Amino acid sequence: MILPITKIGSPLLRKKCSKLPENFFRDPKFHTLVKNMILTMRGARGVGLAANQVGRGIQVVVLECQSNRRYPGRKSFSLQIYANPRIVERSKKTVSDWEGCLSIPGYRGLVPRHKEVVLEALTPEGAKIKRRFAGFEARVIQHELDHLNGFFYIDRMKNLKSWMCLEEFNKKFRYHKVLQ
Ligand code: ZN
Repeated sequence: MILPITKIGSPLLRKKCSKLPENFFRDPKFHTLVKNMILTMRGARGVGLAANQVGRGIQVVVLECQSNRRYPGRKSFSLQIYANPRIVERSKKTVSDWEGCLSIPGYRGLVPRHKEVVLEALTPEGAKIKRRFAGFEARVIQHELDHLNGFFYIDRMKNLKSWMCLEEFNKKFRYHKVLQ
């Protein structure tokens, strides 16, 4: 089932999400939520989604990028699901690139992010994993983890001078129909 995506202004998007209990993976409701988050992300052509964007204040994120029309030219990566994720290492080096957000539809902004990060999380089966992220995938995981802590990409921008409507963004880069 595709769930409604909450937009900036919704109080839940500004709150830190709570950790899932150790036995969460035995709860069928958790797996239904994950399934619905994947459908919602794909339905909205997103590359990532945090549980509080669909009204659940728990630490779950999904991400996937398969030649995405909202992010043309970015490297694809396969579907990933993480519970209780945290970044345990960050590269000193940062890179700036354009980001949008399904909870702030119709805008893009330049956001500096760590070039590489190391993530510790639990899989939907409850197994501990540690993974290094680089490039666009590292950007997406940082964006989604920010959601779980109540932050938006606009909080990470150096200033709002690059923030623009998608209509202007498409003109600037001569993209055809980069979707919101
Ligand atoms: Zn977002």
